Amino acid sequence: MTSSRLQTRPRRVAVFSLHTSPLEQPGTGDAGGMNVYIAQTATRMARMGTEVEIFTRATSSEVPPVAELAPGVTVRHIVAGPFEGLDKNDLPAQLCAFGAGALRVEARHQPGHYDIVHSHYWLSGQVGWLARERWGVPLVHTAHTLAKVKNASLAEGDEPEPRVRVVGEEQVVADADRLVANTGAEARELVSRYDADAEDVTVVPPGVDLERFTPGDAGAARERLGIEPDARVLAFVGRVQPLKGPDVLLRSVAELLARHPELRDGTRVLLVGGPSGSGTERPEAMRRLAESLGITDVVRFLPPQRGGELTAVYRAADLVAVPSYNESFGLVALEAQACGTPVVAAAVGGLPYAVADGVSGRLVEGHDPVDWADVLASLLRRPEVLARLGEEAPTHAARFSWERTTESLLETYARTRRDFRGTSLPLSGVSA
Ligand code: UDP
Repeated sequence: MTSSRLQTRPRRVAVFSLHTSPLEQPGTGDAGGMNVYIAQTATRMARMGTEVEIFTRATSSEVPPVAELAPGVTVRHIVAGPFEGLDKNDLPAQLCAFGAGALRVEARHQPGHYDIVHSHYWLSGQVGWLARERWGVPLVHTAHTLAKVKNASLAEGDEPEPRVRVVGEEQVVADADRLVANTGAEARELVSRYDADAEDVTVVPPGVDLERFTPGDAGAARERLGIEPDARVLAFVGRVQPLKGPDVLLRSVAELLARHPELRDGTRVLLVGGPSGSGTERPEAMRRLAESLGITDVVRFLPPQRGGELTAVYRAADLVAVPSYNESFGLVALEAQACGTPVVAAAVGGLPYAVADGVSGRLVEGHDPVDWADVLASLLRRPEVLARLGEEAPTHAARFSWERTTESLLETYARTRRDFRGTSLPLSGVSA
């Protein structure tokens, strides 16, 4: 490999997304922001001249071994364990099968087929580590969420992340050539909790699709969703799981309506997303909670939305609530703001970056429904304040874009390749 090639951006990246495919609908099960991140950046990378091959576990007998996500972006479905019925917690037992499948794919090509490996989430990081050693290329890793951070701020009823994940994450952090963090806060967590070398961590903020998520006619959006034009609309968008705190929104709405009965008429809460994760916060449990809080008349549940329907939800809302207990960034917050909708978010993880407090939305400390009701009341009872935040929201969101994220990733790859000192194993296809 010549040094001039090492100066350049990679021609081809192997992206590992073991536990969830970028082809899946986000907002339910294990599919969420990571799927969107991978699909959006891969598509743009290919447009900028770097091919991307995404390796993910086959979860159905129907999927072809190779599918095209976009020109220059392929998804390789690796058979590793039964197609269905495996939970994310079962997947550590499939790392070997997945790794073997990925190595087999590479072995069919000329040596040097992939210039770099980018793994997403710790399960992929484990396989990325093996590929790094075998292929003699650097490993870039993005954790997306970290077990030690999640376990430090668990929602009630949520199960702590198992020790096998903590150990697995520590290994990947130690062996990756570069760690990509969404925010400075995540970079600091990697250093303080995982002993990462600060020099090895690069902050690359995620983005938002600024062509798709734009301000639009709220009246038309409400009509599309069957909501009265003059309603007060609050929305939650995301996987319905304890970590996301959908119960916090329902409890605070109940508190708000108890304090201000005059708001009851015309208030609408949209809870958009499918079941996910452990615990009790599934849509069914949320239905029961709404019933016990006496607010079923104002709450509407919608399954995961895509395309124009999702944009309509953001445009129809007066505010979008993101009451998460932990959030490595919070794409929903950016998407809502890009549509001109203010966001009320918990002041955790990446949300203080995603939301400009007092400018494009409000940040709330903690998850006490009383505090949340205070903030909701202060906004819903002063439409002029909501309108001002809504006007500023797209400007804040425009600070983030997938083009910028992709450019930063490509620069990070180039730099990591320049710094790469090789591995202890012989390169693929080179006899020892
Ligand atoms: N999402 C979607 N439809 C839904 C709910 C969510 O497409 O009904 C998408 C949403 O647009 C966002 C992603 O799922 O891009 C969720 O990302 P976020 O970072 O907010 O949360 P995560 O799922 O990563 O925890």
